[in-house]
Amino acid sequence: MFNIQDISPEALCKKYGTPLYVYDSQRIIDNYTRFTESFQVKKLKVHYACKALSNVTILQLFNSLGSGLDCVSIQEVELGLMAGFSPNDIVFTPNNISEMEYNEVVKKGVTINVDNMNMLEYMGMNHPNIPLFIRINPHLMAGGNSKISTGHIDSKFGISIHQVPNVKRIVDRLNINIAGIHVHTGSDILDSDVFIHAAELIFSVVEQFDTVQHIDFGSGFKVKYHQDDLHTEIESFGFHFSKAFNAFCTKMGKEYTLQFEPGKFMVSDAGYFFANANLVKQTTSCTFVGLDSGFNHFVRPMFYDAYHEIENVSNPEGDKKIYTIVGNICETDTFGADRILNEVRKNDIIMFRNAGAYCFTMASNYNSRFRPAEVLIHNRQDYMITKRESLKDLVKNQVMPEIDEILKPV
Ligand SMILES: *Cc1c(COP(=O)(O)O)cnc(C)c1O
Repeated sequence: MFNIQDISPEALCKKYGTPLYVYDSQRIIDNYTRFTESFQVKKLKVHYACKALSNVTILQLFNSLGSGLDCVSIQEVELGLMAGFSPNDIVFTPNNISEMEYNEVVKKGVTINVDNMNMLEYMGMNHPNIPLFIRINPHLMAGGNSKISTGHIDSKFGISIHQVPNVKRIVDRLNINIAGIHVHTGSDILDSDVFIHAAELIFSVVEQFDTVQHIDFGSGFKVKYHQDDLHTEIESFGFHFSKAFNAFCTKMGKEYTLQFEPGKFMVSDAGYFFANANLVKQTTSCTFVGLDSGFNHFVRPMFYDAYHEIENVSNPEGDKKIYTIVGNICETDTFGADRILNEVRKNDIIMFRNAGAYCFTMASNYNSRFRPAEVLIHNRQDYMITKRESLKDLVKNQVMPEIDEILKPV
């Protein structure tokens, strides 16, 4: 019988309804500990990338673990501050945002990671005293999916490594304090050699700025979605990477802080998504299981062709059968084709694994359905951390102006 910290999913679904997101706090704690213990360096700082799962209670959990926070919007910064993070522990890594948003974030005292030359000049002219990070694009092709691959030659992210002489000119002219060099080559990196290679390029940039204290290698740690998936072996990666990093510190005679920004690694396998099987439908080509959810709640399979394990938790002893699991959106929304599940009966609870990262945070109200509730399991207790929406939420920002003549039937 599958349980999360001894609590049965069926009981949770009965209590909170479906569809439902459930997170296991112990798994998050274990992931964080495993990650930090994999590096043998003097100074290490992890900034959890909160776009993966940004519920404030989850952020509080990361804060309690000693993590910092990586934010990509001013709203994420606000959520982090709400969760109790000190501004010093927040790194802001946006792209293509307005000067206004930069100015607002500067006021909050958060570390700014500059993503383009214009902004570097702007920051140097308008906020001459604040230390900055710069995001370098090393032009390495990495990442499993073009939508989330951010380091290659045509990528919109970062300042090209070939522009570093120009960066240096601006930095010297405006006396900018470059406190950190940052690189984030993209999600889903399979090969830890890519990191080491990126590191060497980045070290050569760091050498040119003697104000640098922090070297931030972003993320891209790959987790297993399928049992046969390749994934980042974090202990072995940490071992090799620490060696390269320590050697660089020794060479420079300086203790840099090694920084990472994992999102998926921290929360992906801590999350589960549960939906109700509303219908089991035989057709001439397959047997469909129709759920009370769709890509409005869980879009990774459709948007990224992501594979998520799907199980029937209500009938663990049932005969194995082949199903295509689909949603209730009025478009094709297939969660998984030709999956083998224990026999599915009407109203069985269907579980998706790896639903912690980029699942709830990408949910929408498409088809005017409510977004799911979220529950955190902590110390064997279940806590609702997001209520299910109601009709009120759907219309709360809609304004109905008095334009009777237009709206009256003719
Ligand atoms: C999204 C993002 C991350 C996190 O990536 P994961 O693959 O979830 O670990 C880290 N840094 C930056 C700048 C990001 O945009």
